[in-house]
Amino acid sequence: MSRKKIAVLAVQGAFAEHIDRMKKLGAECIELRQRADLEQDFDGLILPGGESTVQGKLLRELSMFEPLREKIQNGLPVFGTCAGLILLAQELSNDEHVYFGTLPVRVQRNAYGRQLGSFHTEQEVKGIGKVPMTFIRAPYIESVVQSGEKRVEILAEVDGRIVAVRCGNQLGVAFHPELDADNRIHEMFLQMCGC
Ligand code: GLN
Repeated sequence: MSRKKIAVLAVQGAFAEHIDRMKKLGAECIELRQRADLEQDFDGLILPGGESTVQGKLLRELSMFEPLREKIQNGLPVFGTCAGLILLAQELSNDEHVYFGTLPVRVQRNAYGRQLGSFHTEQEVKGIGKVPMTFIRAPYIESVVQSGEKRVEILAEVDGRIVAVRCGNQLGVAFHPELDADNRIHEMFLQMCGC
């Protein structure tokens, strides 16, 4: 199998950790910092954690928003973690914005309140087993939005709240797999990219 090229959105947030992990798993990585970076070919896209409002604003200011949305809509494999999940969500319950809106789920930002804003746990992920999960001012998925042919598969729940889903070419998780020493979620994404 040829070496896959993964693009990591690198305008804000925890992108360096994703790049390290992808390289460790044998993928080639490129950083998306400006519109010209989108002219390269790539096999998958990672939207890292950080601050979704800032990332959304920068994506528009840098004219990267529309071309990226189009690529995702056209089937480019995409992996959104935390703020990246917020960017993908079709509905946000406590934010007036919708960003890419390609993933048919309703997401609540900063959903664990202040005291529980950050925590670590271990939970079952469908098809993988128990994985460590680090949540940092995390969102969770309140519900799946019914949408015609797009089927959302729930991959993990913590305390009855959905924290990981897959829908066709889109993988969204509320936690930060790049911060734990477990490669399996990244490997799952690489498989979605055809590796
Ligand atoms: N609280 C952030 C937001 O709403 C997400 C936090 C994260 O990515 N760790 O965008």
